Amino acid sequence: MSDIQGRLDAIRRRIDTACQRAGRAESEVSLIAVSKRQPVDAIRAALAAGQTAFGENYLQEGMDKQAELAEPGISWHFVGPIQSNKTRAAAANFDWVHTVDRLKIAQRLAQHRVESNRDQPLDCCLQVNVSGEASKAGAEPDEVPKLAREIAALDGLRLRGLMTLPEPADDEASQRAPFAELRRLRDDLRADGLELDTLSMGMSADLEAAILEGATLVRIGTAVFGPRD
Ligand SMILES: *Cc1c(COP(=O)(O)O)cnc(C)c1O
Repeated sequence: MSDIQGRLDAIRRRIDTACQRAGRAESEVSLIAVSKRQPVDAIRAALAAGQTAFGENYLQEGMDKQAELAEPGISWHFVGPIQSNKTRAAAANFDWVHTVDRLKIAQRLAQHRVESNRDQPLDCCLQVNVSGEASKAGAEPDEVPKLAREIAALDGLRLRGLMTLPEPADDEASQRAPFAELRRLRDDLRADGLELDTLSMGMSADLEAAILEGATLVRIGTAVFGPRD
């Protein structure tokens, strides 16, 4: 478990180096440690090393960990596929949902957040299926302008930006292409008047490419925690 401190230090160095290459300030990129299928003790070790933002893919697993940890100051990011029968629990228990990909889900999350006892709106990203997204989830790029505008208008939600999960690629140029596409979509939304500050993109294998294309949140699992069970 003490490996986690060393791995976090190594990731932070990778982020800093990528920011320097991109001519960006290190403060523009935040690390979300994706702790899915990792034990609570691994999260405790990361907390002890100063990591406070965690990502979970499975709602029940995430809520079980939240109950066990019950520490203030953690921000919980839901990064898994979200079904409509899970929106109430997601809206009440997470600070962010990265995987909103249709209006019905957004409306349910918004309504359930308003009904919950949380006083902040739920931060969310619209997931986009840019060229060859691995998971096949996500809105199509041509739906994004209308959908983003509809989501941004919902009480209870705060649309922060866009998220994608591309097909793995080995070379940096291929890794950058889908991230560049997501960035262009975000730039168009901004030009259209939406105030978006987030690009959620980049994982253990491609965080450099994502940062070069403007990522503000990188979601890192195995490079922080080691292999999953
Ligand atoms: C698992 C997962 C990650 C982390 O992936 P690693 O390759 O382990 O860094 C990031 N984002 C999402 C949506 C995931 O499901």
